[in-house]
Amino acid sequence: MLKFDDFFHLPQLDDCIAELARVRQGMIIIAGLDPRPQGGGDLLPSGRSTMFRALLGTILNDAKLTAAIVAGQRDTVRVGRAQQRRVRAYVAQGERGYAGQIARALERKPDFLIIDRLDSDSAPAAFAAAKNGVCVLAQLDSVCRGREVAHHLSDHGVAPELVAQLGWVVAVERLPTLCRHCRQPAAPSAGQLEELRDMLRNLPNSAFPAGEIACFSAPGCKHCEFRGRLGDVAVFDIYRAAPAAAVLPRELYLWELVQRGMLALDDMLSHDAQQLYRTYHQLSHSAEALAEANSSLQRNIAQLESANRVLEQRTAALRSLQDIGQALTRSTDLTDLVGRMCQRASELCEADKVILYLARARGEAEVLAVHGWQRELLGKRVPLDFAPAAGGEPANFSGWPPGISEQHADLAGFTLRAGLRVALVSEGQALGHMIIQSTQKARFAPAEVALVGAFADHAALAIRRADLLDARLRQERLEHELEMARRVQQSVLPRVFPQ
Ligand SMILES: [Zn+2]
Ligand SMILES: [Zn+2]
Repeated sequence: MLKFDDFFHLPQLDDCIAELARVRQGMIIIAGLDPRPQGGGDLLPSGRSTMFRALLGTILNDAKLTAAIVAGQRDTVRVGRAQQRRVRAYVAQGERGYAGQIARALERKPDFLIIDRLDSDSAPAAFAAAKNGVCVLAQLDSVCRGREVAHHLSDHGVAPELVAQLGWVVAVERLPTLCRHCRQPAAPSAGQLEELRDMLRNLPNSAFPAGEIACFSAPGCKHCEFRGRLGDVAVFDIYRAAPAAAVLPRELYLWELVQRGMLALDDMLSHDAQQLYRTYHQLSHSAEALAEANSSLQRNIAQLESANRVLEQRTAALRSLQDIGQALTRSTDLTDLVGRMCQRASELCEADKVILYLARARGEAEVLAVHGWQRELLGKRVPLDFAPAAGGEPANFSGWPPGISEQHADLAGFTLRAGLRVALVSEGQALGHMIIQSTQKARFAPAEVALVGAFADHAALAIRRADLLDARLRQERLEHELEMARRVQQSVLPRVFPQ
């Protein structure tokens, strides 16, 4: 456990801590700001949790005490081996919040209840426990000191009659010290003296010295990077609520440090304004950091979304390829097959116009399927030369597909923008081609082009098979009809040749 003597403090603090360690009722609060990520602000961490653990160690030195510690993390509640029999720890996490864990802790009726943070969840329960006679030691993330802490507590939902349980407030902060390399004695100005007199006037027994006043200033040197400040020191303010007294007021503590040459007189005189400014600075930096984190989060989400879109397209592509694969083994209906291909091709690359031509007689092709075009085009014959596009990757295509008469955009209601011409080639034979177009986007992404290319290979194979089956069916039908005709002919022919 930490001890107070492990870090620098004024001897006046020892008496206060000794008195605090004897307290056995009411609420003892250690107030100070939580450490916050340094975002360029120059607010020093208050060192509050260190003081908290030091005070806790001092209190638990009393071997007769039993205590319960409720904390948000297991690390905070680690207790020395010697104390484990009389000090129990409860971690407040998730389902088991502070209020619930405090209730559990109180079932064992400890002398002391120790809480690592007071907030809207823990504060009302902690004060209720204090009212029931348990002495409570707790930390509060606050810039307030002394009596002001009571206001802060009512913000956390502590009822006014419970605030009366507040016994002691130890406020702690850290301030930058004068650089010991370049500090030198400096006589205070008349104005500074007046301010100082004003600041110390309200102290219980006036600390204002009668004789010569010694203080220091530091102009800056290479050790302190010409800032005149190097290192920092803890500053305390100890307040007792009943009977109300500033037992060790911050002004007195600051003044002692000034006289020892640790603090600049100006830093003492403008303490409140500086702390306010630093707190504001920290706050605005936090806000900036938050905004930055937020926008980077938005960027990440956008990237994830686009990655997800690609993934969805790939999945759709796989489904299409699988679909065509199944059609390859199942479908014998060419019209059904090519209709589905147009649909899939449009899904693959988010195209809204697809037309599929199949080679028929030499130099002629038939529109066999459309997606996004008028169905009247089906069956239309157009002169077409497949030779140049036979095989290879999908090629860019612009303009209007063969067989569709060109229209002005105003009349058509759309403009053809991105376009691909995809050859359907199987076993070196050009079966036809698809023209895939978008009225929405200027170009197809490389991934979309690649997908359409892979898709076209499968599609061509499926078409070839269906076409062959089609041909065979026609052949069979022809043979069947011929057979019928033969039978009819045979039946009308006389069985016996005329003699
Ligand atoms: Zn000491
Ligand atoms: Zn210096």
